Amino acid sequence: MTNGKLMVKVCKHLKDKTADEYIQYFTGKEQIYNCVCPECFKKKDIDSSDFSSIEETELSDLYLESIEGKPGIKIDINNNLFFKHRVISIDKLTDTEILFSIAMENNKKEEYLFLTAQNQLIKIDFETLKIHELPHILADSKIDFTKNVEMKLSKDCKLLAVYNLFGQYGMVYDLESMTELIELDRGDYHVDVTPFTFAFHQYKCKTLIITSTDWDMIDVIDPESKQILTKRKWEELPEDRSEEMHGAEFRSSVYISPNGNWIVEDGWLWHPIGRIIRWDLNQWIENNKWEADDGKSIEILRDAEYSWGNPVSWIDDDNLLVWGYGNDDDYMLASAVIYDINTCEVKYWFYGPGNNYIIDEYLFSWNHKSMWEKSKMDNGSYYQERIDKGMESFSVWDIESGALILKDDQIFPAVYNRKSKIFLTLEGNGKFRLSKLKAISKIL
Ligand SMILES: [Zn+2]
Repeated sequence: MTNGKLMVKVCKHLKDKTADEYIQYFTGKEQIYNCVCPECFKKKDIDSSDFSSIEETELSDLYLESIEGKPGIKIDINNNLFFKHRVISIDKLTDTEILFSIAMENNKKEEYLFLTAQNQLIKIDFETLKIHELPHILADSKIDFTKNVEMKLSKDCKLLAVYNLFGQYGMVYDLESMTELIELDRGDYHVDVTPFTFAFHQYKCKTLIITSTDWDMIDVIDPESKQILTKRKWEELPEDRSEEMHGAEFRSSVYISPNGNWIVEDGWLWHPIGRIIRWDLNQWIENNKWEADDGKSIEILRDAEYSWGNPVSWIDDDNLLVWGYGNDDDYMLASAVIYDINTCEVKYWFYGPGNNYIIDEYLFSWNHKSMWEKSKMDNGSYYQERIDKGMESFSVWDIESGALILKDDQIFPAVYNRKSKIFLTLEGNGKFRLSKLKAISKIL
């Protein structure tokens, strides 16, 4: 990653090319770093090395062994901002364990849908404190509720998807008729290595779904007609094109741009590499069913060894935020990296945000059990241990300047309601904390 810097300080062995491996180490001051060979890095007083400046592009001939040290965090606490908290106790839910929470943003009420450990869906309106138990629609599915389950709601809150994050099956339900609409099945081939592929997509007044129909196949499906709009078979792909696959081998998490033009996928390639790509979603639906596999609009944003399933969020239609600076899980720094989706180049990045985040007017970040820690609980095998988790407490960042502007130790959100701008923290024993960012109004 270049960060726009042209010159970089290197030890004499990198300058005269007598070493071919290097360590990029951050000095702790802003994003300043130097590069040294492994021998120089072992020196106690590394900064007394005999440094020369070279063009950063010259480093591309050398092998990056690791990233060490930490960049500085820009702190610019905004004393006009604070979180207003409201803690609500619901006695009836004292003994209810909540597995997953989702905000019903389309509703006028402050309504949330919860999945309980008893496989029950309950709806709570936090204004009236009315609890509504939904019919037992989940009972007949192949979803394993003893393992990690994720849910997604369509924009109009009419359809609900429920699936095992590291499993084979899921189901889309129609919440109006309370019926099963379509079963999701991505096959059983190594489902433990990648999170389930699922997104709702608003397309010309229709709600479509994007999901994996096999470990290496991603499709667009109309859940009403159950028709696969991108149906294709590998054997139909012209032979001269099959060598030119740009997409991930194992399909995984997808993120659709707010205007619906782009789709980003955080997939997985053997050996293992996490690969983040984007392609033109309209082109895929309308003109070329192979667009997700070898389409001309596919570009790679990042390849990173042993690293995938990190937070990815859209800032707006052109800018995507990806967690993690570096190209290897061994030395990835807790950072927000901003990509231009048109060029797929890094525009800028900043250090500090934790491994979970939500983007709205600001970047809100916190540390959470990573997807992989959850995955370990599921299958006991696949596990990534991040060495750098970033800011421990719930933090608010200015996306443009990259400055940390506020911290709040009481928030650990299960869900964010984008419409009411409320963070909901499950405090356990039937207690819910609703937190909203407020600004002190200036009285003239
Ligand atoms: Zn050296």
